[in-house]
Amino acid sequence: MNSNVSQPYVSVFDLFKIGIGPSSSHSVGPMYAAARFLEELTTAGYFEQTGRIIVDLYGSLALTGIGHGTDTAILLGLMGETPDRVDPETIHEKVSAIRSQKTLRLRSEREIVFEESEDLLFHRTTFLKTHPNGLRFTAFADRTAKTPLHTATYFSIGGGFVVTEDEPIGSTEHSTLVPYPFTSAKELLDFTNQQNCSISDIALENESTLRPQQEVREKLQHIWHTMQQCVTRGCRREGILPGGLNLERRAPRLYQKLNDRDGSWQNDPLNILDWVDLYALAVNEENAAGGRVVTAPTNGAAGIIPAVLHYLDRFCDCTPHKIEQFLLTAGAIGALYKINASISGAEVGCQGEVGVACSMAAGALAEVLGGTPSQVEEAAEIGMEHNLGLTCDPIKGLVQVPCIERNAMGAVKAINACRLALRGNGKHFVSLDRVIRVMKQTGADMSSRYKETSRGGLAVNVTEC
Ligand code: SF4
Repeated sequence: MNSNVSQPYVSVFDLFKIGIGPSSSHSVGPMYAAARFLEELTTAGYFEQTGRIIVDLYGSLALTGIGHGTDTAILLGLMGETPDRVDPETIHEKVSAIRSQKTLRLRSEREIVFEESEDLLFHRTTFLKTHPNGLRFTAFADRTAKTPLHTATYFSIGGGFVVTEDEPIGSTEHSTLVPYPFTSAKELLDFTNQQNCSISDIALENESTLRPQQEVREKLQHIWHTMQQCVTRGCRREGILPGGLNLERRAPRLYQKLNDRDGSWQNDPLNILDWVDLYALAVNEENAAGGRVVTAPTNGAAGIIPAVLHYLDRFCDCTPHKIEQFLLTAGAIGALYKINASISGAEVGCQGEVGVACSMAAGALAEVLGGTPSQVEEAAEIGMEHNLGLTCDPIKGLVQVPCIERNAMGAVKAINACRLALRGNGKHFVSLDRVIRVMKQTGADMSSRYKETSRGGLAVNVTEC
């Protein structure tokens, strides 16, 4: 075992967070940012004096914030709600009450006037330097005060992660001692070679430094059960998705067709793909409707990993242990992207969301289907290589088109990437580390029109009905 080294650590539970739709960067992150600001106000002793809060949204948060539910997230966050605990069924009622009464109870304790047109401001042409998803909170004693009590700027950097101006973008929530510290796929593979073990073994040992191993397992099973519940809900709920595109949910009808034993497609050899599509559509339609989802590693890409896990569960030889191995391996791969590149569509385009989820799922599936660590690394590499340059151009700023269908495509691609890797011997031309570097560089080269601003691509070339 390697000597313990302290370094930033991305936990599997940082990447798989239970939250709500539709966006990890535009709704989950801003809700956490609001909570963080209220904590700061309390620590500084200003909470009891606060009579007004102004929230400024910049860049992508301002451009696609309405479609992505940022306004709702801010209101809920100021009320003290958190993405993991808020009941999605109550959100509409809570937000409507704030809007009609023009008052808000800060952390459910302190009532202030909140006039959205004056207190929640969208700066659509201003991008802060640090990251495209900037937001600033400023507290005042009352509505006439000019001098703020306290102000803080945050950046929602994808996957629900939030940093301040002083924290590096690559910073993580834990700086901890882990037995197998790795920041590259090469280091990760070196550990598996030294220890003659799998990637999920390494990930489990590291994770067990944060909490007892039994608790790690229970939390992983909880993540899986939350994903299953999401798929079940998505397969049953019919109707039109909110936001104005008038898109009808597709998962319930597909679910009924696939369960029709007399359907001609029952003999179709590619019928399994329909099921994979179904699982992804179900999750992403729930996400688009603001339902309970697991960020994996983002909300926009939340359907890929559950879809591939459901494929594993239904069509392969699956056990609860394999579910845990899958999530641990996916977490280790996702950490490499988080540390070395980005999981933010606003920073690197959709390759950072759907591409990363596809890579995580491909590698994780290879692990539980018996792949060597090299084959796992190859599957993860293939999963990203063929998503390089994927643009983020959501129509009307909603996480619906192309996002929902893109998850179905990402899930199928992940399964194929796994199969390609498992048919080989682990030797491959492009390493995972290299493709992560290329992904980051490609994202930096992309025009901001294709990075969650809804100013390019489908967002400006498809006429709304
Ligand atoms: S296009 Fe991709 S990155 Fe952009 S909002 Fe949709 S899922 Fe997220």
